[in-house]
Amino acid sequence: MSWLVQPRLVNDPFSDPGVYLDFRYGRRAILFDLGDVSLLSSRELLRVSHVFVSHTHVDHIAGFDRLFRLCLHRASPLILIGAPSFVDQIEHRIRSFTWNLLDENSVDFCLRAMEYDGFRLTKAAEFHAREAFARRNVPAPEFPEGIAWTEADFRIQAVALDHGIPSLAFALKEVMQVNVWRGVLMEMGLPPGPWLNEAKRAVRLGLADDHPIMISDKETIRLGELKHRALRVAPGQVVAYITDASPHAANRAKILQLADKADQLFIEAVFLEKDRHLAEASHHLTAWEAGDIARQAGVRYVTPFHHSARYLSEPDVLREETFESFRPSETRSLIA
Ligand SMILES: [Zn+2]
Ligand SMILES: [Zn+2]
Repeated sequence: MSWLVQPRLVNDPFSDPGVYLDFRYGRRAILFDLGDVSLLSSRELLRVSHVFVSHTHVDHIAGFDRLFRLCLHRASPLILIGAPSFVDQIEHRIRSFTWNLLDENSVDFCLRAMEYDGFRLTKAAEFHAREAFARRNVPAPEFPEGIAWTEADFRIQAVALDHGIPSLAFALKEVMQVNVWRGVLMEMGLPPGPWLNEAKRAVRLGLADDHPIMISDKETIRLGELKHRALRVAPGQVVAYITDASPHAANRAKILQLADKADQLFIEAVFLEKDRHLAEASHHLTAWEAGDIARQAGVRYVTPFHHSARYLSEPDVLREETFESFRPSETRSLIA
């Protein structure tokens, strides 16, 4: 399987939570959460097009200033999506700086902030450099229910979990992958070329088998013939990110649905199961529960993070407990 994104934790599991999803092509990245990002290079941060913020406890948003500052002279927009109240919070942060040096000659960097209520985007505002980042309300994009963002290659599905406050959980879901058997293509006497992208698009859209695909001005082929011989269709990549959630059944049900059969699941494992009272009091998952959710969701790889500092003297115990419940029959650890 060829992957759309290469996801990795931004920090070690005892430091601020966050996942950097580096796109294989297009010099682009997405961030899940925006805590301490000092370990990311400026170059890596400048690739970020979208940031999905679970909630605004400081360990999930403290990196905003660095990212925003780096982007000030960037032509492409930066899109931030967070829970209810997020747009006001971003506005307040921006207004706490002085912007008199910006004018109509500045690069018109645009920050777009949006709110997601667990079902849909409800509010959006733009902040333009040439307007000294004054807030301008704009309509929020309308996506199907449960979708916080969508593009041709992937969508970001999101749910609101209970953390005492809403905490958003996200899953990047790639649309189905359509791969080409080059050898079969040669056997069929068909040249590779941009027309293959059109064929892949037609498969993803579910067009009928008799849909004609133009190979050149003179030559067409029926989609069905191509599909059955030279194309291979596979499910797309799924990367789920779950953090800051009370250990109860309602959250669990939502997480299982979001992370179902994920290729990579990043999930918080804050306390040991024996300290469950602490997890309940602070609205966090235990390591045992994280692994058990991963097992039940049928994910391929699980990466626990957001470890409580109380376990720093035994740094592996949370990871071990997660893997113990994830793969009860094996002692082998799996890390994405
Ligand atoms: Zn929190
Ligand atoms: Zn947190």
